[in-house]
Amino acid sequence: MKINEIVQSLEELAPLSLQEDYDNAGLIIGHPDWETESCLICVDVNEAIIEEAARLNCRLVISHHPVIFRGLARLTGQTMTERVVTKAIREEIAIISMHTNLDNVMEGVNRILAEKLGLTDLSILRKTGGLLKKLVTFCPTDYAGKVREAILEAGAGHIGDYDQCSFNAEGTGTYRAGDTASPFVGEIGKIHFEMETRIETIFPAYKQKSIIRALLKSHPYEEVAYDIYPIENEFGQVGAGMIGNLEQAMTELQFLMLLKDVLKVPCIRHSPLLGKKVGKVAVCGGSGSFLLEDAIQQKADFFVSADFKYHQFFNAEGKIIIADTGHYESEQFTCDLLANYLKKKFPTFAVLISETPVNPVNYF
Ligand SMILES: [Zn+2]
Repeated sequence: MKINEIVQSLEELAPLSLQEDYDNAGLIIGHPDWETESCLICVDVNEAIIEEAARLNCRLVISHHPVIFRGLARLTGQTMTERVVTKAIREEIAIISMHTNLDNVMEGVNRILAEKLGLTDLSILRKTGGLLKKLVTFCPTDYAGKVREAILEAGAGHIGDYDQCSFNAEGTGTYRAGDTASPFVGEIGKIHFEMETRIETIFPAYKQKSIIRALLKSHPYEEVAYDIYPIENEFGQVGAGMIGNLEQAMTELQFLMLLKDVLKVPCIRHSPLLGKKVGKVAVCGGSGSFLLEDAIQQKADFFVSADFKYHQFFNAEGKIIIADTGHYESEQFTCDLLANYLKKKFPTFAVLISETPVNPVNYF
């Protein structure tokens, strides 16, 4: 397969436009036209990962964290990043990163973490605003079904648990074809009146290209009339962190034991226990301390994340229990997520999860 095919299919899972401003997700090393028969998935890339890929004759590494995060000024082998980049280029191994774009989607890093902890009724903890747009188009009434189906299939019309959402109204469209036009219906130089259907629906901005492509392909007119409006509505499918409920409430100690067991972590830093039952839990894989207020506001009993500083533990304020389970530990399932996704998409493509340890944090 071409590297580009893998990049594009990963973008269907988590569009690169959803990554944070500071991030560097996507194809970082390699050419989109390079070919590979397999990929190796990991959380972080170190030199041993490149050696593992080379040993397995694997021309593509897919990592969660980007191998190059900020600009590299030189490649002299002085730092791990410089050595990894040099080695990957020398071995012709491409590297793709699926980072905050995968944190921010419903089927991403936080969903698999939440599911591993047995949480249900999942929703995004802090939803991203300004992502929705409205599409309005007009087409001959006899073709409305075909056009509507095409744009909805391309990803428009999702509201909460509903899909195929649209509004349709009939009216009269007018136009006059110019001398060089070849109108689908009507005559050149004469004003034409046509029974048309106005179809309106909403879509996430990152699907605009494919939806407009589907509209233009399915619409019979030479010149397709359509409007795109920005709208302010919240979009529930994109944002940071996730919140859900345990199927059965448990004690705080039982929940801490569950965390240790599922995340395979020998110790957990946590704020004071409150002596209450645990039912609602917020999670954010990696450095999620910025979401503490959201977790408190949404009445989570626990907030499971990583990289909390000493002073931030005070902010639990007896309203929530912070559980810092370690950065790597909270993101380790991202490898399974990516592997399962690619295996389903490309059943004959060899998808491997790295066996090289990469977590730089040790417990004594
Ligand atoms: Zn991370």
